[in-house]
Amino acid sequence: MYYSTAVYQNESNVRSYCRDCDVVFAIGTGATLKDINGQSYIDFVAGAGSLNYGHNNPHLKHELLRYIKQNGVTTTLDFHSVAKSRFIERFERLILKPRGMSYKLQFTGPTGTNAVEAALKLARKCTARTTVAAFSNAYHGVTLGALAVTANIDKRRVAGVELSNVIRLPYDGFFGPDIDSADIISTLYLTHGSGYEPPAAIILETVQGEGGLNCAQPQWLRKIERLCQDLGALLIVDDIQAGCGRTGTFFSFELSGISPDIICLSKSISGYGLPMSVVLIKPEHDCWEPGQHNGTFRGNNQAFITANSALDFWKDRRLETKINENSVTIRNSLVELLALAPPETVHVVGKGMLMGLKFNDPQNASRLSRACLEQKLLVETCGPSGEVLKLMPPLTIDSKTLAKGLEKLQQAYFNIMAVNS
Ligand code: PMP
Repeated sequence: MYYSTAVYQNESNVRSYCRDCDVVFAIGTGATLKDINGQSYIDFVAGAGSLNYGHNNPHLKHELLRYIKQNGVTTTLDFHSVAKSRFIERFERLILKPRGMSYKLQFTGPTGTNAVEAALKLARKCTARTTVAAFSNAYHGVTLGALAVTANIDKRRVAGVELSNVIRLPYDGFFGPDIDSADIISTLYLTHGSGYEPPAAIILETVQGEGGLNCAQPQWLRKIERLCQDLGALLIVDDIQAGCGRTGTFFSFELSGISPDIICLSKSISGYGLPMSVVLIKPEHDCWEPGQHNGTFRGNNQAFITANSALDFWKDRRLETKINENSVTIRNSLVELLALAPPETVHVVGKGMLMGLKFNDPQNASRLSRACLEQKLLVETCGPSGEVLKLMPPLTIDSKTLAKGLEKLQQAYFNIMAVNS
């Protein structure tokens, strides 16, 4: 009986994804999910970006099972452990060093929002300033500190308290392609008499995963970084969704050449869907005193094991090459779809394997998402009004399944077009 959907009436009203998807999932392999009836679905949601290496990735699973079989310790607060020390050593050797990056690792409570809380607290502590600057359409989580830097008004309203000490700035492209918002922001902060005080930090996503797949241009990021330096503010990059390879490189900002003071990682850092978060801190900003930001589940050793195995994907350029090939396939398929739509009603947005279709009419995005489900393809929507259909397949998806998923999307698109016309 546990699989009857009636039982979920007992789950809080806060449940959301399952309201539009009346399917009970049972099995996951790679980019494929199976429900209790053995029906297959192609997964273009990938745990909202927490399954970049697919469901039950065999390499990660093998290491995890081996670790559990030997009674490897499960949870250790922040005591030393073999699994943690291996991860720290290999993250340094395979990710940071080759990129010329020097950061300390802070393991926070295992959700993304907790990493953001830690980053904000640390920036405020280091600078002895209270205000943090955050962007239009930003999404950083739903605990109070992270919610304060999140833009979505519906999410903010339910806080029930004032979300203060944050100043909202226009993201790249907010005023359209011809106005550089970084120039406006810099003028405001650097002009005497504007009333803008230097913030503790500026926090940003390089691609706004929940906010509609808006992308910051490299030169815009460099201007914001320069502004942070001029203001003595810390630059925090929230790479929770866009990082871990999602946009083509391990860190989403790599090609822009910026060097954030603090980086938040979560979602796919464990690679297996096991909860884990890391805040990377430039050593000069590690002003914490022992235990100042603690939490019971900072030592998820099973996550350290799979995170360590996931690093094997970054030993050479093969995954990067594959992500870039997949991105081209996805983009081409979306551009083909656009040719079928009335001009100017829909656009391709996003970057790497974080791409989607932005509709002028948000109803069309939700209609298409529902039509995809009928085709047994899982896709979610994002954007301030849900106007973007977001495609986020596992990075490791094989070409055949990717092509099949994109075919299903095309079929779903034809179906809604037929109804609309
Ligand atoms: N930051 C970003 C950029 C995110 O996309 C998310 C989750 N969608 C979060 C923070 C919050 O992560 P979590 O849901 O694990 O708290």
